[in-house]
Amino acid sequence: MKTVRTRFAPSPTGFLHVGGIRTALFAWLLARQQNGQFILRFEDTDKKREVAGAREHLIDSLKTLGLAYDEGPDIGGPFAPYTQSERLEHYQAWAQKLIAKGRAYADPYSAEEVQAFRDQARANKQPFLYRNYRPEVTPTWDGTMPLRFKSDPKPYSWHDAVMGELSTGPEVIDDFILIKSDGYPTYNFAHIIDDLEMEITHIMRGQEFLSSQPNYLNLYEALEITPPILATMPHILAENGNKKLSKRDGAKDVLDYIRDGYLPETLVNFIASLGWNDGTEQELFSVSEVITKFSLEHVQRSGARFDEKRLEWMNGAKIRDLPLADLAARSQSFWPESSHQSASDYKLAVLGLIQERLKFFAEIPQLTEFFFEDLPVDPNLITTNKQLKKYTFTELKTWLETCRQSFEASDFSAADLTERLNRLLETTGQKPGVLFSLIRIATTQAPASPALAETMALLGKERCLRRIDQQLTVLTAA
Ligand code: GLU
Repeated sequence: MKTVRTRFAPSPTGFLHVGGIRTALFAWLLARQQNGQFILRFEDTDKKREVAGAREHLIDSLKTLGLAYDEGPDIGGPFAPYTQSERLEHYQAWAQKLIAKGRAYADPYSAEEVQAFRDQARANKQPFLYRNYRPEVTPTWDGTMPLRFKSDPKPYSWHDAVMGELSTGPEVIDDFILIKSDGYPTYNFAHIIDDLEMEITHIMRGQEFLSSQPNYLNLYEALEITPPILATMPHILAENGNKKLSKRDGAKDVLDYIRDGYLPETLVNFIASLGWNDGTEQELFSVSEVITKFSLEHVQRSGARFDEKRLEWMNGAKIRDLPLADLAARSQSFWPESSHQSASDYKLAVLGLIQERLKFFAEIPQLTEFFFEDLPVDPNLITTNKQLKKYTFTELKTWLETCRQSFEASDFSAADLTERLNRLLETTGQKPGVLFSLIRIATTQAPASPALAETMALLGKERCLRRIDQQLTVLTAA
């Protein structure tokens, strides 16, 4: 059996959104699972579309997600260079072979002439096929004109590892450009040569290339080479409707998710699930589990929906599974300024309290700041609270004073506070929704917090009583 060799072949034309990196992930998974090799190749033959910084960004995105490649533009390898613009002589050599076989020719037409052919075809209600206008005599190709493939139209049937058996008629085969007049090859030509020379065994790519496959098959035949296995990925659909995911639907740069404090392993799990499952209902997988269980047979044909809420849920689940010390180490850079002076075991205890509800690390400052500093009393928290807005400040003040008295006598263990909180419900005759919201707001000045008794115990008696007093002052003054 040949060693599996897969590649990710992006064009450096922009950032990589979560959907865009899926091709890389699936190719990487297959290579890792089969003890094969995963190759990065830059397809930069369309100079007009190139975006500065895109290469670094692509490399950074792969590295951040842990998708290490075995060969690539920056690390070299046995088939270097891995950047198409540095491989022009390879395409030239293969172009010459095709010319010698009579399977490529210089295209003598100007853009206007080709347009005229197009218009003529439209007027005749015929699909435009360049080969219908193939010149009888062609000049010798000197590189100043495009070089075209001389196709051999015929029907094709082929197997796609994801899409199954596919077939087309001869009408889709045409003479396409191999090398443009600027000397650069087209994607259509270059990727075939590179995949051959780099001994790629599996091509994974998006559906946008599927309609070109018969033309590629025609070229493979002319070159007398066996095509690699093709696996066409299903579309990734936007959250709503059936359109393809695009930047407009909020498809963010994959590194933006890292900056927001998503775990790389969540992104791997989530992106793998865009079109793949293991045949069961399981949704959460470790990276090594995805590697073991991944298979092209379980990649679906229909579009996969991009659901950011699911990503959020998945990250929350992975955060809950992390040992506390790991969580602390990995979330370090997200902690608020005000926490920097606090003892590390206090911070660890805070983290232990919020771990349950934390969905991504960028939420940490908002969820934790009241553990580190007294926030100013915000009367809006009461006046906009569904439970509390029905009561007068005088009523609330009376209840809060009763609570304060009880807390004053507490040892501030979570157990004692729990008992007191329950007793206070009876003393004041209030529902937890009312009384606990009041105490929560007074002691934290936050609209939400972890379990009340545990939060208060961690904040400590002095801090809680001081904050209750500040709240009482505001309730009195109003
Ligand atoms: N350079 C192509 C792109 O960025 C890659 C297609 C392929 O994987 O063959 O869309």
